[in-house]
Order: sequence, then structure tokens, then C-alpha cells
Amino acid sequence: MITVTAKATHAQTRRHNNRLVLKTVYDQGPLSRAAIARSTNLTATTVSTVIAELLADGLVEEIGAIAIERGKPPTLVTLGKDARHIVAVDLSRNYFQASILNLRGEIQAREQLPINGATGEAAVDLIYQLLDEILPLVQKPLLGLGIGAPGIIERNQNLIRHAANLGWENLKLGEQLAARYGLHVQVINDNQAAVLAEFLFGQYKQTPDMVVVRVGNGIGAGIMCNGQLLHGNGAGVGEIGHVMVVENGERCTCGNEGCLETVASSRAVVKRAKAIAQQEFSSYLHQFAPTVDEITIGTVVQAFQAGDPFLQPVVEEVGQHLGRMIANLVTVLGMPRILLCGSVTDFGSPLLEIIRQEVRQRALSGRIHEPQIDMVSLTTNLSDLVIMGAAATLLANELGLFL
Ligand SMILES: [Zn+2]
Repeated sequence: MITVTAKATHAQTRRHNNRLVLKTVYDQGPLSRAAIARSTNLTATTVSTVIAELLADGLVEEIGAIAIERGKPPTLVTLGKDARHIVAVDLSRNYFQASILNLRGEIQAREQLPINGATGEAAVDLIYQLLDEILPLVQKPLLGLGIGAPGIIERNQNLIRHAANLGWENLKLGEQLAARYGLHVQVINDNQAAVLAEFLFGQYKQTPDMVVVRVGNGIGAGIMCNGQLLHGNGAGVGEIGHVMVVENGERCTCGNEGCLETVASSRAVVKRAKAIAQQEFSSYLHQFAPTVDEITIGTVVQAFQAGDPFLQPVVEEVGQHLGRMIANLVTVLGMPRILLCGSVTDFGSPLLEIIRQEVRQRALSGRIHEPQIDMVSLTTNLSDLVIMGAAATLLANELGLFL
């Protein structure tokens, strides 16, 4: 007689083997069954059984044989990257974006909706509207919904504890979406999504220790430590935008004063640029924005790149503030690689150089092992980065890939 425990153990082993084989094919495929057995230390029989199941599920595919010197050429097995699709949503910008992705994180379709200042329930309704638009476009079985959201997220409960700009407090977003659509849902902090995307799909794939710093409307860091996402105590790890950097500084959206966001976010840069435009009639800003109200981070970047002398000190100051914060991250966490993204980083290499210089000067470790500070590799579209990371949480949780 098989006991319940034995059954459970058997099911667990089977699930473990399935995930191990799928992960091996995902990371290293195409592979022969023999190569999978070598890589996983599973027996040839087990690998054959698991592959048969994954083939039936469509998660892997056979792609013909490779020529070898002697004997029967082995058939190679590769990922069935379109066996499942994922819908991922980015809620971190001034519009909501949803995309359909395959198992390799390749984007198949996109939809977006302007937020127009909606908060609370109205903002949740916009998510429903966006999903109602994109879900009918899905053509493959859905693995689930991945949501990249700003703010403090209780990841195990898919609960948004606090997202100031969207007016959300203790919003059970995961639960609400799961009930409405009957799908698996994962909610992840936007900065954590960004670093996860680089870790899984980017040029810095599998780099165990790195930080992605997003500098846009808000500023935050997603931290990968020893190949694991750093979750901290759930009270907002990586919220560097709300560390005070100016004594008696300007009031921040969080209620404190002098936070990094008050001096280095796109909001802060635009505010300073508007003041410059009002005072300096020879500023290049006037060429790119007909009125002061039309100045955006995009027009500030254009005027800076055209050589506006009034913007030089603004970019220097932003770089110094960011550099100091990054020097702290590098020192505390011993991080060898920092990747930047976000609208403020569109100032490009002049900004990057100021940041590097600041880190070199301020971090002792920076003088011994200079950390690599670069732009993210994946995409210049910040939204895609968050979307890919939100999709990746489903790959991790539903299929056991990575992490
Ligand atoms: Zn703040």
C-alpha cells in the first residue's frame, strides 16, 4: 500500500524533476536527452519520461538531430517558447501598459491607457479596462498575469501596501485580479521587476550581484544579491528615492523633506528647467518647448544635448546626488555592477561620467575594484523592462525557471 506521505513525496520528486529538466532546456537548450541527463544527474530513463511529459505539454519541442561520427544521431530538445503566453502590466509610469509575452520574454502585443491622474478605485478600473482589451488578443494558453507596480508590495500576498502616486493603501490587487479573471497573478515592485528582467533576459543574464537603479519620475533600486532578489523585510527595499540627501530640503511626495527624489528625479529636473527658462531668455529650452508649461524631461534632454550652458550645472548636480547614493550602495552591498535606466538617464554619457567620478571618489571599494556602472542592456523603453520582469516572476513561480 502506498501511504499518503509516499505519494506526496513521489509527486514532489516528479515536480522537481520536471522543473529541473525544463530549466536545463531553458538555460542551455537545444540539448540531447543524454546531455540533459549529464547536466541534471538524472537517469536516462527519468529524463525520457520527463521529456515525454513536457513534449505532450508543448513546453519543449524536438528540433531534429545533430550529425555525430558514429551511431544514431541524437534528437535535440528545445524550449517550446510559445507553449504558453503571459500578460504583464506596468503600472509605474504616467500611463498603464500591458503586453503579451512568450516564455522567452519576447513581446507579442502591446496596449496602453493614459491614467490622467486617476487614483484609488478609478485607477484599478483602468487596469480592468486595459486587461479587458488585451486578454482577447491572447492566442496561446495563458501562464498568468504579472503586474509590475510602484510602491511597497507584500509579495507573498500580492498586496500593495502603499503606492502614493496611485493613492493605494493595502490594495489586494492580486486577489482582485485573480477573482475577476481566474488566472494566476503575481505582483512585483517595479524596481525589482527591472533587475529581474536584466537577470533573466538581458546582456547581464545570470549576473548574481547587481543593482538596477531607475531614475524617472521616482527613483528606486532593484537589488540582486547572490543570484536572489533582495526582498528585505517587505517594508520597501531599494526605496533610495526617499533617503534624505538635503538638510531642510524640499517637501517630498512621501511627506519627508529633502529626499533624493526632490533633487534628482525627472520631476525635480523639469522644475529646475522651468525656472531656468523663466529667467534665461537665451536658454536653448525655448527652442524645444514653445512655452514653459510644455517643458518635459524630453525637452530638457534635447536642450542639454544641444549644448545649453544653463543646464550643465543641473545635470552635474543630479549626477553628484545619484553618484553619492550609488557609492553608498556599492559600499554597503559590495556590488560590482550597477545598471541605470529611466528618463533622467537619457542625459547619457555626460551624466554617467559624473556618476562614475563621484563613486570613484566616495567609495573606498570603488578605488580597489571599480564597480561597473552602465545603462541597462535590454531596452531603452523603461516600460518593457518592468513588463519583462513582471512576466519573469510567473516563469519563476509557475514553471520553476530561475530563482
Ligand atoms: Zn520622499
